[in-house]
Parts: sequence; C-alpha cells; structure tokens
Amino acid sequence: MTEWVQQLLREDLRGLSAYGAPQLDVPVRLNTNENSYQLPDEVVRAVQRAIAGEIADLNRYPDREAVKLRADLAAYCGHGLTAEQLWAANGSNEIQQQLFQAFAGPGRIALGFGPAYSMHPLLAKGTATGWADGLRGERFELTPEHAAEQVRLHQPALVLLCSPNNPTGTALDFAVVEAVLAEAPGLVVVDEAYAEFRRPGTPSALELLDEHERLVVTRTMSKAFAFAGARVGYLAAHPAIVEAVQLVRLPYHLSALTQAAARAALAHADVLLGTVEAIKAQRDRIVSELRADGWEVADSDSNFVLFGRFADQKAAWRALLDQGVLVRDVGLDGWLRVTAGTEQETDAFLEAMKGLSA
Ligand code: PMP
Repeated sequence: MTEWVQQLLREDLRGLSAYGAPQLDVPVRLNTNENSYQLPDEVVRAVQRAIAGEIADLNRYPDREAVKLRADLAAYCGHGLTAEQLWAANGSNEIQQQLFQAFAGPGRIALGFGPAYSMHPLLAKGTATGWADGLRGERFELTPEHAAEQVRLHQPALVLLCSPNNPTGTALDFAVVEAVLAEAPGLVVVDEAYAEFRRPGTPSALELLDEHERLVVTRTMSKAFAFAGARVGYLAAHPAIVEAVQLVRLPYHLSALTQAAARAALAHADVLLGTVEAIKAQRDRIVSELRADGWEVADSDSNFVLFGRFADQKAAWRALLDQGVLVRDVGLDGWLRVTAGTEQETDAFLEAMKGLSA
C-alpha cells in the first residue's frame, strides 16, 4: 500500500493485508470449503423464477426486516424457533460483524480459541475490539475447564466458539459451550457454519437457545446449501438480541434479489442438502486414506480435513498446486487443510498426496 494511504489509514490498520485465500484457476479447487456441486437444474429454475418475480419491483427498497426469509429460516432450523429469533445478512461474516458492532467495540474484549476461524480476530480489528486468544491444547483440544478459565481471566464482551471448528474440523464438546455459558459475562457466539456436516450424535447449540438468552448461533447457506455466491448467513438467538443487532445493520442491507433467491433455495432444502451425505463420505475417505498412509489427521465434522505434519507446509502446498490441486495453507506450522468435494476431486487430491513426503 502506498505511503500516503498508510498515513491516512487508521493507525491500528496500518501495515495489515486483506484477508482472502488465493482464487486461482486450477482444475481442482479445494481451498475455501465451498460445496463442489453446482445447483441442480430444478433449483436453478426455482431461483430464476424467484429472482425474475422481483425485477419489476426493484424501484423499491427490499423488506428491511426480511420477515419472510427469517420465517423460512426458522422453519428450516426447527427447535421451535420463530422469525423473531432469526436474523439474516450477506453471509455469516456480516452477521458476525454486526454482533461485534453491537456488542463489542472499543474498550471491550472478544475471546476466541485459536487455531479457529481467522476472520474472528479480523472482525475484532475492524471494530476496534480488543482480541484475546484463549488457545487450544497440543492436539487442538479445548476442555471445559480451560475455556471457563480463559473467560474468567479476560471477562470478554463476546466469546466466539467455532463448532465444527475451522481449520481443525472437529465439533466442540457440548460441555465446553455449557462451561463458557455459565461463566461468560457477555454474549456467547457459536459459529456453526458447517453444522450440516457434523457426525451422527453431535448436537447443535440450537438445542441450548431455550435455556440461555445470551447465546447466539450463527450459520450460513454458503456450505451445505451450495449457495456461497448468493451470500446468505443468519443467526438464531433471543428476540432481544435480534432487535439489538438492528441498531447497527445498514438499512436494506439484504437485497430483494438475495432474499428471493434464498427463499427459493430454502424451499428446495431437501434437494440442495442432497449432496451432504456424498461430501461426508468423501470427507471420511480422506481422513481414513491419509491416516492409512501415515499422515496425522484431525477428526472432522465438517466438509474439510486438516492434515500434516509437514516439515514445510508451504512447500507441500506448492507441490500439490503443481499437480493442479489447490488446498489451503491456514498458516498453521506443519498443517494444510483440504475441502471434501466430489469423488473425482478426492481421487485427484489423494493421488497428488502419494508423491509427497513429510
Ligand atoms: N464461519 C466459519 C467457521 C467459516 O469457515 C466461514 C467461511 N469460510 C464463515 C463463517 C463465513 O461464511 P459466509 O460469510 O460465507 O457465511
């Protein structure tokens, strides 16, 4: 960035570079945990019809409260949730930014447990919130005792728990969420971007909403729903939290086209989520084949897998790219992350891995 812009920039942003994985044009893109499957024709047509139905009315602003979409999201989430408990925005990133704006900010602390989703500390930065990293154990584990102790220590206005966690892939032990809820003086956000991929028997924090009014669960249509390009994320929480978030949202933040497209997609949830089992099967295949080849692999409840350990993960990343396979270097020494996609993509990835050594 040029010197004069650096001078104009907020001091706490100087010298930083923008977040984002490389968007490279290679045959096998497994670096951003998207759903590899395109939308089925039936859903393409439904979304087309829904968008077409909005076009003549684009002279008007959209429903600022996105009431119909929120009702559809509540119905999808189940657990007796109502539209008043749901809020939607342009991706769960925007949802989380709104939570930081409303509940954190200057003079306040947000607490996460790294390695976790790298946008969380960046959202803290953007909203001038202090950031505390409670860290995880050697094997990326997070115990209820450790989590509660960190909450006691930092007294955060916002705690971010990621379940399943990105980049490790593993869902949180419910006892961690409960321990944090018992101790936290502020809001507790459970980021469940990958919830639909969790292994059988793994609960969702949606189940805890009834008992905990300071709990917020964030989710997205970017992953299991194969709708990343539409930018739709949402939260489920107490209606008073939804009301508070509206203090900081931009008016008409969610376009009429986005709302209509999302509703059409939700009406076809069964079809769209039809790829989830196939992706989970590829995920489990990646885990077991890499382990059989002697790699260390974290348990995954997501559509991605963290694997290693490499003496030099940057060199391994490059070696895979040279074979046309793009994975993610999340900046974790010795480890790389790969998205589970189609069977053919898994074939290509596992084949490319055969040539690599630790
Ligand atoms: N949370 C986690 C843990 C993620 O990995 C991602 C996407 N990389 C998001 C939130 C944001 O997704 P979106 O803004 O597309 O909903």
